[in-house]
Amino acid sequence: MELYKENQLKIYNSLTKQKEFFKPVHEGHVGMYVCGPTVYSNAHLGNIRTFMFFDVVYRYLLHLGYKVRYVRNITDAGHLENDADEGEDRISKKARLEQIEPMEVVQRYTVDFHNVLKKYNFLPPSIEPTATGHIVEQIEMIKQIIGKGLAYEVNGSVYFDVIAYNEKNKYGILSGRNIEDAIHNTRALDGQSDKKNPQDFALWKKADEKHIMRWSSPWSDGFPGWHLECSVMSTKYLGEQFDIHGGGMDLKFPHHECEIAQSKTCSGVDPVNYWMHTNMLLLNSQKMAKSTGNFILPEQILTGENTILNKAFSASVVRFFNMQASYRSVLDFSSDALLAAEKGYHKLMEAITILSNITPSKSSSFSVNDWEKKCYDAMNDDFNTPILIAHLFEGVKYIHQLKENKELLTKEDLTLFQKTINTFVFDVLGLLDDSEEDNSEKLTGVIDLLIELRKEARENRDWAMSDKIRDQLAAIGIELKDGREGTSYTIK
Ligand SMILES: [Zn+2]
Repeated sequence: MELYKENQLKIYNSLTKQKEFFKPVHEGHVGMYVCGPTVYSNAHLGNIRTFMFFDVVYRYLLHLGYKVRYVRNITDAGHLENDADEGEDRISKKARLEQIEPMEVVQRYTVDFHNVLKKYNFLPPSIEPTATGHIVEQIEMIKQIIGKGLAYEVNGSVYFDVIAYNEKNKYGILSGRNIEDAIHNTRALDGQSDKKNPQDFALWKKADEKHIMRWSSPWSDGFPGWHLECSVMSTKYLGEQFDIHGGGMDLKFPHHECEIAQSKTCSGVDPVNYWMHTNMLLLNSQKMAKSTGNFILPEQILTGENTILNKAFSASVVRFFNMQASYRSVLDFSSDALLAAEKGYHKLMEAITILSNITPSKSSSFSVNDWEKKCYDAMNDDFNTPILIAHLFEGVKYIHQLKENKELLTKEDLTLFQKTINTFVFDVLGLLDDSEEDNSEKLTGVIDLLIELRKEARENRDWAMSDKIRDQLAAIGIELKDGREGTSYTIK
C-alpha cells in the first residue's frame, strides 16, 4: 500500500489561512507549480531558501508514493524592473549594460542557477519551462481574456481590467488587499500611462525601438507581461485546476493575485487548491541588500569567500540550518547560527555511523514504531521540519543508549530504525553525509598505495603479484590503466 494512504497530510493554505487536509485533484497524483527565478543575475540566497523548502516538499510527496509533476519555470523575458509595469525588462537591461545578447544573459544565469542547485543537492523538477518558449500560448491566453471582456488594448499594449474582473470575482483574495480601498487611496493616473486604472496590469507590452526582446502579436511587436507566463505554463502542464502552487511570500501580491485573475477568467475555476508561501530570509538580522554590503551568494557560503561569515560551511550544513526553521517563519542567517547547525549536523551524522555498528538483541526496550510515527506526524503537519529534526535527535539519544547497552533492539527493530532515520535524513531532508567525502580521500590514498606496490612488483618482475592487484581491483570496479605518464584509474 502506498504510504500516502496511511499518512494524512495537512497543508497550511495561504488562501484560507488555515491548515487543511490535503486531497489531490487526481488520487495518487500531485501537480505542483513553483515560481522559478528571473535569470538576470546570480542565484539569490532568499530564492534558494524557497526552492530548498519546495525540494523537501517534492521529496516527501515522492516518498509518500505520489506521482508528482513538479513544474518550476525559468523567467527569461517580461519581468520589468518594478511592479507597476514600468521600467526596463530586467534581462534586456543587463544585456544592454554588458553589451551582450539577452539570451547570453539567460544562458549564463540559468547555468549558474543549476550549478548552485546541484551543489545544494536539489532534485531537478519534472518540467522547467521558459517564458520565451511559450509566447504562442501567452498570446492565445490574452486573446481569451480579451474575448471574455476583461482586457483592453491601448496603443499596442494590452491590460487586464481589474475593476471589471472584481465585479464578479474578488481581486485581492490571496493577499487580503481590498481593491475598493486601493482605488480610493491611489492617486489618479498622471496621464503618462495607458492604463484605465492604476490597479490594471499588463498582459502585453508594446516594445519601444530600443527594446531587443520582442515578438509579433495581433497588437504590436512587444513582449508578454510577467504574470502571464505562470498562468499559461501551470495550465498547460498541470491543468486548469491543480494541487499546489508555491513561491516566496513577496510574490503573493501582485504576481500570484494576477495569476489567479488571469487563470480564473479563462477557465471559470480557481486554479490552485493549496497556495504555499515561504517567509523571508535575513542576514545578520538585516534585510539582505547588495547596496548595503549585507549580501552573500549561496556559492560564497560554500567557499568561505565572503566578509559576512567567519568560515565556509558545507551545503548540507546550510540545508540542515534551513530545515531547523519552519518555512513560514523568518530565517536569520549568521555565523553563530550556522556554527550551531554545523555541530548538530555532525552529531546526527556521527550517530548514523554508530547505528550501523550496533549489535541486535533478543528483545527491544523501546518502540521504534512509536518513534517512526512521530517523524511522519511532524512531516504530515504542514511539512514541519523543525519538529522532525527534534525527533531525529531523540533518535540520536536512543543510538547512544544502544551503544552503551542502556537500550536494546531486536534485529527487525534495528533495521526499521536504520531505514527510518536514513529515509528522513537523506531522502526527505536531502542531506548528504559530508564524512563520505573524507572517505573518498582515503580511498584515493589506498588506490595510490596499491598502484605503487604494483609498480614495485613489476620492477621485480613479479608478474603474478602485479596481475593479482590489477585483476582484484577490476573485480570491485576499479580499473587501472597503464599509460606513458604512469598508471591512472577509474572507479565504476
Ligand atoms: Zn510565477
